[in-house]
Amino acid sequence: MKLSLFNISNFKIDGGAMFGVVPKVLWNRVYPSDENNLIPLSLKSLVVEVNGRVVLFDNGIGNKQDDKFMSHVYAFGGEGLIEGLAQRGYKPTDITDVVLTHLHYDHCGGGVYRDSEGNLKLTFPIARYHVSRAQWDWAINPNPRESDAYLPENLLPMRDLGALNLIEAEGEFIPGIELRFFNGHTRGQIIPIISYRGRKLVFVADLFPFRSHIPLPWIMSYDVEPLKTLKEKETFLKESYEGGYIYIYQHDYFADCSELQLTPKGIRATDGFTFDELMKKLK
Ligand SMILES: [Zn+2]
Repeated sequence: MKLSLFNISNFKIDGGAMFGVVPKVLWNRVYPSDENNLIPLSLKSLVVEVNGRVVLFDNGIGNKQDDKFMSHVYAFGGEGLIEGLAQRGYKPTDITDVVLTHLHYDHCGGGVYRDSEGNLKLTFPIARYHVSRAQWDWAINPNPRESDAYLPENLLPMRDLGALNLIEAEGEFIPGIELRFFNGHTRGQIIPIISYRGRKLVFVADLFPFRSHIPLPWIMSYDVEPLKTLKEKETFLKESYEGGYIYIYQHDYFADCSELQLTPKGIRATDGFTFDELMKKLK
C-alpha cells in the first residue's frame, strides 16, 4: 500500500463558525484569526494505492466557480488538484476510485470541470465516484441551511455521466480500507480508516476538521445535528484512543496529523506532525 497526502489549496472562513459555541478568547489561542475574524483552512486530499486500485479521497473546490463565489472563499496557496497528483506520480486517468466523504462544495468540486465549450466533464474519466446513499439523497434535495454548500454542477454530472456509485452500508470498501458513516455534520458523512503497517490511519474530514476539534464541545456551527456529532465524537475518540489510531486532518492549516493521548481533561490530540513525519514514523 502506498499513501500520499497533498494540499489542493487553502481558503478562509469565519473563525466563529468553525468553533460553534466555543468563545473566541479560547479558540483564538489555538487557531489564530486575522483582523476580519477569518481563519485559514487547508483542503488536503489523500491518495491510497492498493491492489491495483488508486483511491482519491475528496478533491477540493475545483475551478468552475465564478469570481463572485471565489471572492467569498479567499483561496490561497496549495499545490492544485491535478498538479498535486502529478507531483506524486498520478495522472487523472490513473485514479480508479474517488471516495467523497460528503458533497459540500469544498470536498467534491474538483471531480467535475467545465471544458472550453462549457460542458461539464469528469476530471477522473475512468473512476467510479463513491458517495453514501444517505448523503446523496440528502444533498440532491437539500435543506435551506445546507443548500449553499450543495452545488448542482458538482453533483449531477457524477450521476448523469454514469460514474456514481452509492454506498449503502459501512464496512470494508477494499482490503485495507474501511468506511464508516457519521451523521452529525451532515447525513452519511464517510470517514475512511486505512490499515497501514499495523496502525489505523483515519482521514477525519469534517468529523474533526482541525486538531483543535478533539474536545467534545468544540463543534462547528455548520453541523446539522451538533448533539449527534458530540455523541459520535465521544464514541469514536474512545475507540481511536484504545486502538492507537492516527488522525489525518483535512482542513487543519497547522497540522497534518496527530495521535491521541489521555489527559485529566479527557482524550486530547498530541502535538501535530506532518504527513512526511508520519510516513517516516511508520517505516
Ligand atoms: Zn462539510
